Amino acid sequence: MFSDTGSSGPQSRNTMVMKDMFDYEIIYSSRKTLALQITAEGRVIVRAPVECPRSVIKSFVQQKERWVKTHLARLQERTENTSANPPISEKNRARYISIARDIFTRKTEYYARIMGVSYGRIAIREQKTRWGSCSSKGNLNFNWRLILAPEQVLDYVVVHELAHRREMNHSKAFYAIIENVLPDYRKARRWLKENGHTLWEQLNYSSLNNA
Ligand SMILES: [Zn+2]
Repeated sequence: MFSDTGSSGPQSRNTMVMKDMFDYEIIYSSRKTLALQITAEGRVIVRAPVECPRSVIKSFVQQKERWVKTHLARLQERTENTSANPPISEKNRARYISIARDIFTRKTEYYARIMGVSYGRIAIREQKTRWGSCSSKGNLNFNWRLILAPEQVLDYVVVHELAHRREMNHSKAFYAIIENVLPDYRKARRWLKENGHTLWEQLNYSSLNNA
């Protein structure tokens, strides 16, 4: 899945174009940390310290794969629609839902193992008032719009729903379970409260109603 087809050759001494699950450029500089950026034209750029090994850059990019794909899909959507607030097409909606199913399946597997909880089926939904839910049987629903949110927010929603496998409430004990896995969960929760609505504004529908 993560193939190394090599580079198409250095463009300059400090820049390199990689071909992996998507093309990206590496720009080396005297910085200390790795950063990933997508330009308005859809170029994916990794900024890396000069001595940073290629393998470290690769695993960094791999971790950001979903984020990048989601954002590239959004850019695509925007270029296909020139109006300021373009309606989402059925085709692109299906694409987002498929990305969301993939992300939430993987994240749920990952966190369920850490938390030692089981779960039933995973469904991807679109409910304006709900980011996720967990039934008494352990079936999980996630809102696909979350893929437009920062990664930590997705993690929080997954861990939140899985924590309901232990506590079917929002008690202190419930949040203690979350905190144990995600010590910084409050930031993500605040992000959702303050910015959650923007996930609806970013992509809207002209003819589609909420599913
Ligand atoms: Zn809850």
